[in-house]
Amino acid sequence: MAAVVDKELCTGCGTCAESCPNEAITVDDVAVIDEDACVECGVCVDECPNGAISLPD
Ligand code: SF4
Ligand code: SF4
Repeated sequence: MAAVVDKELCTGCGTCAESCPNEAITVDDVAVIDEDACVECGVCVDECPNGAISLPD
């Protein structure tokens, strides 16, 4: 399990990648989350200005 990016909402701003404590996010056109590195802390969910990241239920 890992945080999930909504590619329709992501603008590729990079804020999430800068905020992730585990360096689990890279940004190409949109944010991509390394499922093995993500610990589901939720920081990126709170930091994304576009509401593009969510944690699975
Ligand atoms: S903070 Fe949100 S909009 Fe910005 S790159 Fe990350 S997921 Fe995309
Ligand atoms: S939930 Fe936490 S560990 Fe996972 S990508 Fe977001 S900030 Fe990084």
